[in-house]
Amino acid sequence: VQRGRIVAAAEVEQSYIMIKPDGVQRGLCSKDLAQEHYKDLKDKPFFPTLINYITSGPVVCMAWEGVGVVASARKLIGATNPLQAEPGTIRGDLAVQTGRNVVHGSDSPDNGKREIALWFKEGELCEWESVQTPWLIE
Ligand code: GDP
Ligand code: MG
Repeated sequence: VQRGRIVAAAEVEQSYIMIKPDGVQRGLCSKDLAQEHYKDLKDKPFFPTLINYITSGPVVCMAWEGVGVVASARKLIGATNPLQAEPGTIRGDLAVQTGRNVVHGSDSPDNGKREIALWFKEGELCEWESVQTPWLIE
């Protein structure tokens, strides 16, 4: 409440959002969407378990945009198999098995576009310019 008052000139509100236990447990991500997302892998033996895994609970979806963002996100994420992922990467530090490797990142700009179009509807994406951009990108 105190924080809200600091910027009270505009009508700034605060809202507490919580995914409740049933929301976490119920697997509300649809199988159709998961199958479409991973359609390149549909002939792999692990496809059914991958679809079960990815639809087993809520996921947090993000659309990142930036210079070279596909490659830099993949670098942060690390190799598919956490055993081969470098220390300091998300999978290298936080995951144990390929089938539980914590995070997804598109593997090409074309797939980035395809996947964002699959997971987000028109108008759902937030576009903004950071004041830091000129200090990050020459
Ligand atoms: P990514 O681009 O690094 O995520 O890897 P892929 O596109 O090759 O595979 C997609 C996802 O399928 C991986 O992130 C894993 O979650 C899963 N996956 C890939 N290979 C295997 C495997 O051999 N076994 C299992 N259980 N899951 C796999
Ligand atoms: Mg992939």
